[in-house]
Amino acid sequence: MLKRIITPQELATAKKDFGECKNVVIICHTSPDGDAIGSSLGLYEYLKRKGKQVTVIVPNYFPDFLHWMKDADKILRFDRQKTASYTALKMADLICCLDFNDLHRLEEMGDALTRIHCKRLLIDHHINPVRQQFAHIISHPELSSTSELLFRLFDAMGEIDKLTLAAAEDLYAGMATDTGFFSFNSNDPDLFVIISELLRKGIDKDRINRKIQNNYSADRLKFIGYVLYEKLEVFPELHASLFSIRKEELAQFHYMKGDMEGVVNMPLQIKGHKLSIALREDTEKPLIRVSTRSVDDFPCNELCAQFFNGGGHKNAAGGTLECSMDEAIEVTRKALEAWRDRLADAPAPVDDATDESTT
Ligand code: 5GP
Ligand code: MN
Repeated sequence: MLKRIITPQELATAKKDFGECKNVVIICHTSPDGDAIGSSLGLYEYLKRKGKQVTVIVPNYFPDFLHWMKDADKILRFDRQKTASYTALKMADLICCLDFNDLHRLEEMGDALTRIHCKRLLIDHHINPVRQQFAHIISHPELSSTSELLFRLFDAMGEIDKLTLAAAEDLYAGMATDTGFFSFNSNDPDLFVIISELLRKGIDKDRINRKIQNNYSADRLKFIGYVLYEKLEVFPELHASLFSIRKEELAQFHYMKGDMEGVVNMPLQIKGHKLSIALREDTEKPLIRVSTRSVDDFPCNELCAQFFNGGGHKNAAGGTLECSMDEAIEVTRKALEAWRDRLADAPAPVDDATDESTT
């Protein structure tokens, strides 16, 4: 039995919007991750089974380790398939917006959407959605993932029985990737109730984990070795670290989009570490992409809003800087200095080796 998080009003909204629509477009954020693709395809499965005409459109490339999902090959890429995307958007009577809170996060596709007059329903878990951009909003920042939110919505609608195996796999993948395979943002016991429901649907959790995690090139492994050995700068007294990657370095390791996935989490393996910052030169645009990860109560989203034109979640946020890498490194050093008081605090004590009860 799950906690009742979906409000009666949200339930009524979902039932009405999903009931009335005939032609649906589902969209998610730029550079879609596991939760963006998992929740989009999970909803796609559900609406298709209800007999709707459904198209998933993503703004740009999504990584190879998500292509195993059923119907991933039917997803349209807005940057490459403009005509087909516009055709679907113009026919739509409902646009479901998943896993983002602001059309600006869709870049070029966001501009296109503002010119298309169609009801937009937001289903998302990022804080502070831009309310005026959406007709209806189902927003739960307290949840691990949009995929978890969708499961709860299906549950509140009494539709779990109708959830297909493919939809169960999609939602599991979204929840797993947004929680680092249940290693952060994942202490809610309900999450494990949901996973057991998905297992009952027949998902092979271990196989999905492998398909997502063990799907890289040898170059990526060597690249990680290079980043950690040559590029990681640790600030021990701040319990923080920084690494920066230039375009030439990406080329040296035959970088494919997605190869940086998860690398920013690695410095958090250092004992007592609170914050990891990664800077990467974009391969297409003249800008620096910033990724940050933290533990406990250090607010990456506030840091990113203040210094990197961005935002996100407390423990995972990002942004962009329009400057050279050297300047971006300077901005990052200033950011670390500005947050020195919060970072330099001793981390909470961890049980030490005096505990002899373990074997
Ligand atoms: P990542 O480091 O994986 O690129 O992004 C982590 C999280 O930070 C994303 O899930 C998203 O919530 C947030 N994020 C990343 N880039 C931006 C950005 O440019 N602007 C805002 N507002 N949030 C971002
Ligand atoms: Mn998400």
